[in-house]
Amino acid sequence: MRPSPLDPLFAEVTSLPGVGPRMRLLFDRLVGEPGKSARVLDLLFHLPHGAVDRRARPTVAEAVPGEIVTLTVRVVAHQPSPPGRSRAPYRVVVEDETGDVTLVFFNADRRRLDKLLPIGEERFVSGKIELWDGRRQMVHPDRVVDAAGLADMPVVEPTYGLTEGLTARYVNRIARAALARVPELPEWQEESWLARNDFPDFRTALERLHAPQDMAAFAPDSAARRRLAYDELLATQLALALLRKSLRRAPGRENVGDGRLVARLREVLPFALTASQEQAVADIRRDLAAPQRMLRLLQGDVGSGKTAVALMAMASAVEAGRQAAMMAPTEILARQHFERLAPLAEAAGLRLGLLTGRDKGAERRRTLAALADGGLDIVVGTHALFQEDVAFHDLGLAVVDEQHRFGVHQRFALGAKGAAVDVLVMTATPIPRTLVLTYFGDMDVSVLKEKPAGRKPIDTRTVPLERLDEVVGATGRAIRGGARVYWVCPLVAESETLDVAAAEERYTSLVSVFGSEAVGLLHGKMPGREKDAVMARFAAGDLKILVATTVIEVGVDVPEATVMVIEHAERFGLAQLHQLRGRIGRGAAASTCLLLYKAPPGPVAEARLRIMRETEDGFRIAEEDLKLRGEGEILGTRQSGAPDFRLVRTETDADLIAAARDDARLVIERDPGLASPRGEALRLLLYLFERDEAIRLLRAG
Ligand code: ADP
Ligand code: MG
Repeated sequence: MRPSPLDPLFAEVTSLPGVGPRMRLLFDRLVGEPGKSARVLDLLFHLPHGAVDRRARPTVAEAVPGEIVTLTVRVVAHQPSPPGRSRAPYRVVVEDETGDVTLVFFNADRRRLDKLLPIGEERFVSGKIELWDGRRQMVHPDRVVDAAGLADMPVVEPTYGLTEGLTARYVNRIARAALARVPELPEWQEESWLARNDFPDFRTALERLHAPQDMAAFAPDSAARRRLAYDELLATQLALALLRKSLRRAPGRENVGDGRLVARLREVLPFALTASQEQAVADIRRDLAAPQRMLRLLQGDVGSGKTAVALMAMASAVEAGRQAAMMAPTEILARQHFERLAPLAEAAGLRLGLLTGRDKGAERRRTLAALADGGLDIVVGTHALFQEDVAFHDLGLAVVDEQHRFGVHQRFALGAKGAAVDVLVMTATPIPRTLVLTYFGDMDVSVLKEKPAGRKPIDTRTVPLERLDEVVGATGRAIRGGARVYWVCPLVAESETLDVAAAEERYTSLVSVFGSEAVGLLHGKMPGREKDAVMARFAAGDLKILVATTVIEVGVDVPEATVMVIEHAERFGLAQLHQLRGRIGRGAAASTCLLLYKAPPGPVAEARLRIMRETEDGFRIAEEDLKLRGEGEILGTRQSGAPDFRLVRTETDADLIAAARDDARLVIERDPGLASPRGEALRLLLYLFERDEAIRLLRAG
């Protein structure tokens, strides 16, 4: 159980003064993990990305145009907009001994301004000073307060990522309230390491970011932020080390049979395996046969055919009388796997089931019962697979697809569902070997080097957005020629609502050209069944164009789709572009990828677009990506939206990863039970970053 000193941090945000049910929903959207309510901790880990410095207190005459200043002034006159010209601004003239400034308000609420700036009174106004027509002005001051208000005003005001309906000022206030809930905690880091890096303690680090006295915490190499990042990294590495240790320690079993099901599968597969696929299957069967547990990573570029390898592996386990489970990161992908595998499984005599969060009631109970009594050999599903009420008759192999979408702990959680479960994780992100070690420790690796034969290269072109009309024209010609088209709209960053709006707008405009029978829309906010229906109609060829946000990034397989349009390609990372493009070029027909960019692209975007034009080789792309942004990003936490890291910024913290790994290794060596005083404190750290599972393992071992 979580130690009680941490309780205030895990309380819902409504436990903070000023957060009611309405605001709570907004916070859920802003900082909550998917499907979960926001907690005080989530707010604290929603770090400001910068700050406004209001410390400058010049006289009016000294104030430098373009800078943020806080002026001490007396209100001289109100100048309402002239009658009949309501669009003209409302002006208020204020002054000190050295000069005057006009405060400018558009769409002003006159009564409010009368109250805020009474004539003759002293006020403190903070905002950016400008020169207009040779006169000083301040348009919409950020703050207007009296002496009492000034005492409360943060002099350095952090700026947060926001969502519609939450104001900067409000989030600031609530973040401070959250800060007040941080208890005094024992130090879990080595004192010497803290001293060497000049890292503050945990609480001080949070204070410097949420209640800053200066701008130091917002520098890229800020000690406060890096301290927190290091906490997160150490928690992760420690949890990994503990999981690995317990997995390795448990003896394995022989999870491979006589090869009869694998042989049957070979007969029913519509293709012959590539040499790399054969090699991977052999590696896996050898691991399964060995008395130790398997911990293997299967790396293969998009379209390299990892699923077929997984199926062979699962069939091997079934031969040995065990069950196998395959976990996919999204509902769409789980269903797609199920649909693809079902005919093969049936032909080979494997009993296959599906379990996702969407299955409810009797259907779900039937599946659970069949898993528990051995009525199913293989189950495909989502996170739902490792919920507590899911029990297996005898799970022998767990396969985790597209692992970069899962948290570190989730990757291994399936392994805890049986006695000595073998684990195979699959990734399309080609991770260089050194990083594999950092991320997975001593995992074995199989690589699918070549793609299945018969693939035609993809013709990739970059097109400025101004030529959208031509692209629409070309799309029309393509679909008249029988093609199917993905049309991807980008993430606009902070607001998912905006992303959806952008996709909806494009959908509407394409419908007006091609008709609603031909165009479908897919985005993350749609209910699951609607998503499936749209996907199914696209896969069946009823829909010719699928407008989508990046939901299609992972794994979706429609071999007939041969055109991909990506809008604002300059906003995507290389790995993501590569993943997206991997959705086409899967069938026998030639494919085209059009990367639309807003001109002129910045230097990094330009380099990315060029690399995309030049190569389809995932490893080369990963290497170039590494050069362009440093090794951390390859781990893909941010762009893939994986919940792994909240505080770590892979572009500046890559050096800390290795340090945390070494530190964790040393801790486990010296204090395997986390029983020393530092060990006790480290337990708190694990809870704080929600690696509770690791603590359970500690207890079991
Ligand atoms: P990924 O590695 O991206 O998960 P998939 O497993 O989805 O790739 O495979 C991509 C496509 O290639 C699928 O349509 C699959 O049926 C096909 N495929 C897999 N292996 C082969 C092969 N050896 N020969 C021909 N096609 C193959
Ligand atoms: Mg796949």
